[in-house]
Amino acid sequence: MADPNGFLKIEREGLKSRSVTERLKDYNEIYIRPDEDVIVNQASRCMDCGVPFCNSGCPLGNLIPDFNDAVYQQDWHKAFLFLSETNNFPEFTGRICPAPCEAACVLGIHTSPVTIENIEKQIIEHAFAQGWVQANNCRVESGKNIAVIGSGPAGLAAAEQLNKAGHRITVFERNEKPGGLLRYGIPDF
Ligand code: SF4
Repeated sequence: MADPNGFLKIEREGLKSRSVTERLKDYNEIYIRPDEDVIVNQASRCMDCGVPFCNSGCPLGNLIPDFNDAVYQQDWHKAFLFLSETNNFPEFTGRICPAPCEAACVLGIHTSPVTIENIEKQIIEHAFAQGWVQANNCRVESGKNIAVIGSGPAGLAAAEQLNKAGHRITVFERNEKPGGLLRYGIPDF
């Protein structure tokens, strides 16, 4: 588990925003990427609860105590593998999910919850930087062809899961470019 006393020593530290004057000049992301040691410290606050309500609070069932522990151990690849077990696209859930996991975090009963969403985001950013995020070719092909209509988050997640199951997938999209809500609904910042 992460540091058993971490939550007693470390306070919650959320993301810091870029200044408004800077943000007026572009549409880049609002938040500043924190230093790695900040994230490791934040992961150390996880109590590895016997009944991790964060896990049931997450609609995806993310393995939150497991990836928190891996981040605390600074084993980012292991953290990435835990995260990938349940989440097709942490690069955007880590940014725009309303984080019901944090609302459910047991630590939040008496103090501030673990910064789960930001830890998730930093794991996937780390994974992209290290080149760990790769297309997965299925090992056994089912011989079945499946059409997925729409390339929004649901369509792409379905396509990835079906691809993992060995099917050949074609994603159809009515717009000029793929992404659906991701491309046309969510602003860059
Ligand atoms: S509920 Fe909070 S403290 Fe408990 S395991 Fe989940 S993230 Fe850690």
